[in-house]
Amino acid sequence: MKLDSPLSENLRLIEPQKKALAKMGISTVENLLYYFPVRYGNTSQIKNVKSLSKGDESTLFGKISGLKTSKAWVKKIPMSEGIFTDDTGSIKLIWFNQPYIAKMIHNGQFVRVEGKISERRSKKEFYISNPKIEVVNSLPTAVGDSLFGYEGEEHTMYPVYSESRGVTSYWIYHAIQKIFSSGVLDDIPEPIPENILKKYNLPGIKTAFIWIHTPKKEDDATSARKRFAFQEIFFIQLQKQKERKLWSKKNAFKIEINKKDIADFVKRFPFKPTDSQLNAIESITNDFKRGYPMSRLLEGDVGSGKTAVAATTIYAITQTVPTGRTCGNLQTAYMVPTEILAKQHYENFISYFQHLPIKIGLITGSGCQIFPSKSNPIKPTKISRAQLLKWVANGEVPILIGTHALIQKSVKFKHLAFVVIDEQHRFGTAQRQKLTDKDEVVPHLLSMTATPIPRTLALTIYGYLDLTLIDQIPHGRKPIITKIILPSQRNNAYEDMRAELKSGRQLYIICPRINEPDPTKELAVIAKSVTLEAERLNKEVFPEYMIDILHSKMTPVEKENVMKDFESDKTKILVATSVVEVGVNVPNATMIVIEGAERFGLAQLHQLRGRVIRSNHQAYCFVFTESNGQKTRDRLKALITAKNGFELAEFDLTQRGAGELYGRKQWGISDLAMEAIKNIKMVEASRNEAIRIIEEDENFNKYPLIKDYFKNQTNRIHFE
Ligand code: ADP
Ligand code: MG
Repeated sequence: MKLDSPLSENLRLIEPQKKALAKMGISTVENLLYYFPVRYGNTSQIKNVKSLSKGDESTLFGKISGLKTSKAWVKKIPMSEGIFTDDTGSIKLIWFNQPYIAKMIHNGQFVRVEGKISERRSKKEFYISNPKIEVVNSLPTAVGDSLFGYEGEEHTMYPVYSESRGVTSYWIYHAIQKIFSSGVLDDIPEPIPENILKKYNLPGIKTAFIWIHTPKKEDDATSARKRFAFQEIFFIQLQKQKERKLWSKKNAFKIEINKKDIADFVKRFPFKPTDSQLNAIESITNDFKRGYPMSRLLEGDVGSGKTAVAATTIYAITQTVPTGRTCGNLQTAYMVPTEILAKQHYENFISYFQHLPIKIGLITGSGCQIFPSKSNPIKPTKISRAQLLKWVANGEVPILIGTHALIQKSVKFKHLAFVVIDEQHRFGTAQRQKLTDKDEVVPHLLSMTATPIPRTLALTIYGYLDLTLIDQIPHGRKPIITKIILPSQRNNAYEDMRAELKSGRQLYIICPRINEPDPTKELAVIAKSVTLEAERLNKEVFPEYMIDILHSKMTPVEKENVMKDFESDKTKILVATSVVEVGVNVPNATMIVIEGAERFGLAQLHQLRGRVIRSNHQAYCFVFTESNGQKTRDRLKALITAKNGFELAEFDLTQRGAGELYGRKQWGISDLAMEAIKNIKMVEASRNEAIRIIEEDENFNKYPLIKDYFKNQTNRIHFE
């Protein structure tokens, strides 16, 4: 057995297991080794039915019988039931909303059941609701005897793996035991340099694999998890630091900065810039002066005014004449994630630049525009894509704003000097690469994001970028009033909204779904949908106002029309999915309702709330929750107490765990490493070590095992 040999060659796999493993992204021996337990159970929790008492967290081993599906008493929720029996007695098991359970398990099978013991008041009868259940091959011979022990050794901890239909935790445990006993661990290469392991007291890779899968004590598991988290972050850091070094060796246009010119441009804004905005402009223009490309991340809460910073620095770019020419402008590409936003930015930029002889182009999937044009010097004109691309290619259009359409092969610039990417968490690294790889001279890069992420995470995933924060909101803005609304307070809240609507303001209502869930589907979620909620509001709550809907399944033209009506105040209420989350700017919309708030992450709620702090009117955010749980309410309360998005992100990280952070998937970091992100010391240590190695030896000539690790990385991706 070798690390890269396919599992199917080494284990006898049946079809459902093959399918499940493929779905879990596990194909090789190494993949399975890197499939870590999500937690550990404790054999001391193994009980028998006779010894149970109410409230116990218990693990039981026995036989299942009496499986059936039914409908719950009052609400008609589909449910499964079964009877669990061991040598000492029986107990009822109930699963709500999981009718498939009864189909997955068969009467008479041996099972391990895990859950909290409840009691039916009326009958003095114990039951377990929604227990974890898995089929096991045999029963432990006596309670307390571990299913998971080696001969003669006493294990009290056993690993629990996240399961997929067809592959149980128990199966994974045994498969890993088989891999261990093959001896494959004996010659597994150690990718982390010896001195680093020593310095941070991390176990070697072989020990770490054994400890993480079969720890004898808590400490072993902790230290193994720490090692693998370090490993993952360390290699991310190495990669990012290398990327950073490579960038700094490339050439970029040197931009001449005329401070007075820039100050004059800023003076034309209809507001006074904050110090944060001015500092950001200063950092960016300082980077422009160097001969190598800027790579900078501008992180600022929604509404903190990043667009004005971008516009000013773009202005600085347009004032430099391309090398070897006597006239003309350097070019900027400004990429945003949606057509709505592209249009909005385009119109803003026209107002910022209309006093200058500078052409601005718009390119999206549904059409192109230019401003100004011969036929219309005061308004944008629709033109063909071919015409626009011709002008971009010969350098006549200094500023091109667009969506993904910007990074198609057919788009060629003459002197691309600057790339701005707005709300960049929506873009993958590869797409960014496409824009920046186009020329010999590399454009400066500014990424902007309002997704408040904790510092440790920023240092990791954006390790190749310099970081600038905008941590002030514009002067004169009243802090937004956020209210948590329980079901009983719904009608009062609607009356508050009606009063604001009457005085001319507008309202967003955000629902978690587009359409009604299909009730025949298993696990259908009962969450408000955009279409039904809009109908209900129209009939029952706000019949006097125009209501419209917006969601991602609509065509670009439909969306644009909806936004136009809302911007022009024709529509008063916009019921939408979270598509409005990114950057939409309608200053008169000062209220936002978020339905089913418990379904959103805090950072996303904050992002949504940001839609309404766009003017000096008092803004309101109504956070509707159906959940009565204390935990949910505490979490939502953080929305009221946290001072800004960064604080909120830190809170989310410590309270909910990193796995729930908004956008985690796109960062390509495993759950384990995300947990480690909570630990600033570890992140800094791995970053410092990576910087040291890259400074010394960016091609890893002295570190052949690091080189190998990167070479094999594509086979190793074990998350998602
Ligand atoms: P974001 O950082 O979320 O992209 P925007 O750039 O869209 O924010 O700015 C939000 C709104 O605030 C816009 O209407 C913009 O004109 C306005 N704005 C920007 N900076 C200031 C400022 N310093 N004072 C007042 N209003 C500002
Ligand atoms: Mg923005």
